[in-house]
Amino acid sequence: MNCAECGKEIVDETSSFCAYCGNSFDVKKNKLELLGSAAILLIIAATFAATLGVIGLLNYQANVAAYATNVDYYISIGVSEAEYIATFLGFLLFGIINVVAFIPGIIGGFFSLLKKRFRFSLISSIIVLCSSLATFIIIWYYGYGYADIVLMSEIPMLVFSFLSIFLINKSKKEFI
Ligand SMILES: [Zn+2]
Repeated sequence: MNCAECGKEIVDETSSFCAYCGNSFDVKKNKLELLGSAAILLIIAATFAATLGVIGLLNYQANVAAYATNVDYYISIGVSEAEYIATFLGFLLFGIINVVAFIPGIIGGFFSLLKKRFRFSLISSIIVLCSSLATFIIIWYYGYGYADIVLMSEIPMLVFSFLSIFLINKSKKEFI
C-alpha cells in the first residue's frame, strides 16, 4: 500500500499517519464517508422529487378529468374549461419541474457515489434544491394548501438536497 498524498510506500500498515509526509489516513476515511453520505442523501432527495412529480401530474390529470365528467355543472356556474384548467396548472407545473429535477438528481447521486464528475454532482444537487423551493412557491401561489403527503416529500427533499450540496462541496477533493 502507498500513501495517497505523497505516494511513498507505507511500511507500518497499522500506522494512522504517513511517516514521510504526516498525512493522516483516518481523516481520508472520514472524508470518503462524507461523500458516500452526500450521494445517498442526493439519491433520496431525487426520489422524493420523483414522488412529488407524480403527485403533481396525477392531481392535474384527475382535476382535468373532473371537468369533463361535470361539464354541464361547470358551464351552468359560468366556469369555462380554460378558466378551470388554469386553476390547476400549478399541479402540472410542479409535476413537470420535479420529474425533470429527478433525472439529474439521481444521476448526480450515482456519480457522487462513484466519486466522479464533481461539477455535475454539485449542480444536480442544486437543481433538486431549486425544484423543492419552486414547489413550495407554486403551491403557495396557487393556494393549493400543503397536503400531508406533499409536505412529507417536500421537507426531506429540501433538507437532504441542501445537505448534499454542502457535503459534495466539502468533499470536492475526493472526486476523481
Ligand atoms: Zn505520505
